[in-house]
Amino acid sequence: MDFSASVKEALSRVTIRNEAFIGGRYRQAASGETFECRTPIDGSLLTRIAASGAEDVEAAVCAARASFEEGAWRDLPPKEKKKRLLAFADIMEAYASELALLETLDMGKPVKNTRGTDIPLSIETVRYYAEAIDKVGGEIGPSAPNVVSMIVREPLGVVAAIIPWNYPLLMATWKIAPALASGNSVILKPAEQASLTALRLGEFAAEAGIPEGVFNVLPGDGAVGKALCLHGDVDGVVFTGSTAVGKLILGYSGQSNMKRVALECGGKSPQIVFADCPDFEAAAEAAAWGVFYDQGQVCTAGSRLLVEESIREEFLARVVAIAKDLKPGDPLDPATTFGAMVDETQMSTVLSYIEAGRNDGARLACGGVQALAETGGNYIAPTVFDNVAPTMKIAREEIFGPVLSAISFRTFDEAMTIANDTMYGLAAGLWTSDLDKAHVAARRLRAGNVWVNCWDTSDITTPFGGFKQSGTGRDRSLHAFDKYTELKTIWIELRAPK
Ligand code: NAP
Ligand code: MG
Repeated sequence: MDFSASVKEALSRVTIRNEAFIGGRYRQAASGETFECRTPIDGSLLTRIAASGAEDVEAAVCAARASFEEGAWRDLPPKEKKKRLLAFADIMEAYASELALLETLDMGKPVKNTRGTDIPLSIETVRYYAEAIDKVGGEIGPSAPNVVSMIVREPLGVVAAIIPWNYPLLMATWKIAPALASGNSVILKPAEQASLTALRLGEFAAEAGIPEGVFNVLPGDGAVGKALCLHGDVDGVVFTGSTAVGKLILGYSGQSNMKRVALECGGKSPQIVFADCPDFEAAAEAAAWGVFYDQGQVCTAGSRLLVEESIREEFLARVVAIAKDLKPGDPLDPATTFGAMVDETQMSTVLSYIEAGRNDGARLACGGVQALAETGGNYIAPTVFDNVAPTMKIAREEIFGPVLSAISFRTFDEAMTIANDTMYGLAAGLWTSDLDKAHVAARRLRAGNVWVNCWDTSDITTPFGGFKQSGTGRDRSLHAFDKYTELKTIWIELRAPK
């Protein structure tokens, strides 16, 4: 199979920006260095991107700090900030089909998903926070009659947003929209594997009237992220990515200026199917798509399937049938529902987990192999393991690929114990017709999102984030403003008028 014709065709329809965006303009890295940007669809080179270094970090922080101190954005009337952020969303919308192609070229998820989900949700996110600007105010405390206690929110200052490659534009907007809406100046550090949509945002921000220095994009490797996290003039870091890097970032904050840190990290989410499940077909679809959507490169992937022993065989057969039907295809083909892994490294990591599953004695029910190797791209067949013990590596570690580990249980308590036996706590789901069971389980599960008789459904109005080592802080909803603002109390005592 040859996917290179569709890669070439898509490339002819997109604009690629490959320089850092600092102080309102694009520029090469001070060192002149670049790194390769390849598409996982057929392995071909898309462009070379500026590899930011220490000097560029300094320039971006200086530009952001200067714009913040001048109040160029912070001090605009709320109505004006809202107008410009809405304009930013409108420009994103005007380029929506281009952004969808760019995202697919860059990281290999099906264009069906980038068109239908990633890009529309990103635009919606910017609009939601733009609209909130002139609707969220401060508070007056319930103080004594001779006191006016005002509780106001103020922006942190300079905020660095460090994001992963799996939902590049959506994760970027989950951070930058509430950050900008709160009046901060922002430096966005995209993941090396998928920087292209983030880089387009620079010119969109300028066109929307966001003053220079207020929004910057610094492409580069983990060292760029680290330098931002250690910088004494950065007031806050918001991060989505792995738990391992999240922990490093907590350390960087302590080693530098105690900057505010909010983390959204990994997961190993359980989907629990009880024998009294109200709809086995829907549950089987959710079990399969919960881990195969975007090739399993999803933080909330339902990578552990907990099935009640009495229905295990029959239920698993349904899930395996769906998995076998799913064939990896050209992500640029609008009919494709299962695309590429982001890069070769990620593909090898996932294949090594599959190997561990085999070696540990789990039963491979389907998949387990690389696919479409002749294309030069990175593809893995949807994989299901049965007879997985909760102690096995594939049941404990985040694989971040299309690998489902099925574990059986006999009692409600056993299901709860296995579900919570993880260092993560991002999401969990359960399928039951019993109202008592549903409510009790929903409260017992230690996770930031619990789905009952559905999976991965939510919207911008509800908070998203994890318990335990899945992170701190929440994205989405008005609660996200907590991460981008300081609370200030202004206590005014009144004298009796003479
Ligand atoms: P990652 O390796 O942790 O990288 C995330 C970002 O951190 C990238 O921009 C990366 O730059 C940067 N980085 C790397 N080392 C750093 C350091 N020492 N200091 C500061 N920044 C550093 O994660 P990923 O592989 O991109 O993404 C997959 C992970 O993200 C999974 O664990 C997934 O569960 C998690 N995720 C969580 C959520 C959520 O909302 N909870 C959502 C999506 C994804 P480079 O690109 O140069 O490495
Ligand atoms: Mg790429």
